[in-house]
Amino acid sequence: MINIQENISLRPYNTFGIDVKAKYFCQVKSTAELIELVQTDLFRNERRLILGGGSNILFTKDFDGIIAHNSILGKEIVHENGDTAFLEVNSGALWHDIVMHCVQNNWGGIENLSLIPGTVGAAPMQNIGAYGVEVREVIEKVEAVELSTGRVKSFANKECKFGYRESIFKNDLKEKFFISSVTLTLSKKNHRINTSYGAIAETLSKMNITQPTIKNVSDAVIKIRSEKLPDFKILGNAGSFFKNPEISEEQFSKLQIDFPSVPHYSANQGVKVPAGWLIEQCGWKGKTFDHVGVHAKQALVLVNYGEASGDEIFSLAQKIISSVHEKFLITLTPEVNIF
Ligand code: FAD
Ligand code: NAP
Repeated sequence: MINIQENISLRPYNTFGIDVKAKYFCQVKSTAELIELVQTDLFRNERRLILGGGSNILFTKDFDGIIAHNSILGKEIVHENGDTAFLEVNSGALWHDIVMHCVQNNWGGIENLSLIPGTVGAAPMQNIGAYGVEVREVIEKVEAVELSTGRVKSFANKECKFGYRESIFKNDLKEKFFISSVTLTLSKKNHRINTSYGAIAETLSKMNITQPTIKNVSDAVIKIRSEKLPDFKILGNAGSFFKNPEISEEQFSKLQIDFPSVPHYSANQGVKVPAGWLIEQCGWKGKTFDHVGVHAKQALVLVNYGEASGDEIFSLAQKIISSVHEKFLITLTPEVNIF
């Protein structure tokens, strides 16, 4: 039985800790409740938003509509053989809890994605990625409920149109489906251990580990992230505020003439330049302005010192975009969803 509440503060429901209100708010605890909700007149007629852990969202004003907060829990192995386990996870489960479950069972594939906040249902939305792994590599299928009809549709991996922090759910099907479950394909042996990225190898070496297991990699990622990223329970943030820009080879060659030390990586389309470096070069790293600031250890992370409004964070983001464009002729795009 669904319960639609009115005038609810969203402060506990977004990791920036922004104190705005939702006109209507409904906790959704099962797919049946979801289908019941989408069939109500209220849901049909109001503006609607699906909310997971609120760790990739910036609210700049009250939400004048209905929020469906995802609390659909549960997981099961739907199929397995000697090599692979197929784990179907309901979308309200916390992503990191599922990573820990897999690590405990020695199922490989998502250990590099340890300690990413938020829900399983939001993971395909922006094809979450970290330390050289993207969730698309382990997604077999995504099940979703169409908001206009209540119809359940299954999307095979290819149909999700995954890209760098992108998917069909963030583009063509934006705000059209509620992802209700995700099926992951996990290795049971011959794991593809990936330690080549960032500080993982160095951290493992300091831990005196030469033949890393899945658990070792997960432990290393957790250690690095805990030391570098602010804890959103203490300092409100939504992780990287911007995507790393991918620019053409030609634009990169010109950039390198003026900035020979610019870090770069090959990308699907051209060259990836770390947004954090660009922001740091513009002098923003560690700066604070009233209630908001740029994190001292990672310039990609904007923080709320406690009482910031979403507009204050948005306005800081706009200033950063302008100054990066002025210096490098590169336009940063927010990764965070802004409402
Ligand atoms: P929300 O913020 O609640 O929602 C995000 C978007 O997805 C919204 O548009 C929402 O409407 C939509 N959505 C949510 N659930 C569903 C659903 N079930 N069906 C349809 N649409 C849905 N991200 C990375 O990729 N890599 C990282 O390493 C990483 N590190 C982070 C570190 C920190 C400290 C923080 C705060 C964030 C980090 N993030 C990272 C960003 C964020 O955690 C992920 O994008 C996460 O997947 C968001 O999950 P969520 O449940 O909080 O989504
Ligand atoms: P980092 O190691 O300081 O590296 C800075 C950037 O360079 C990263 O954003 C990464 O791009 C890129 N990079 C580093 N090594 C690379 C390689 N070998 N090949 C290709 N690209 C490389 O980054 P960090 O800030 O500490 O973050 C570590 C990882 O966690 C990154 O993958 C990052 O995306 C992820 N993370 C994401 C969020 C988020 O909210 N989205 C928040 C925190 C951390 P990519 O970002 O494309 O990987």
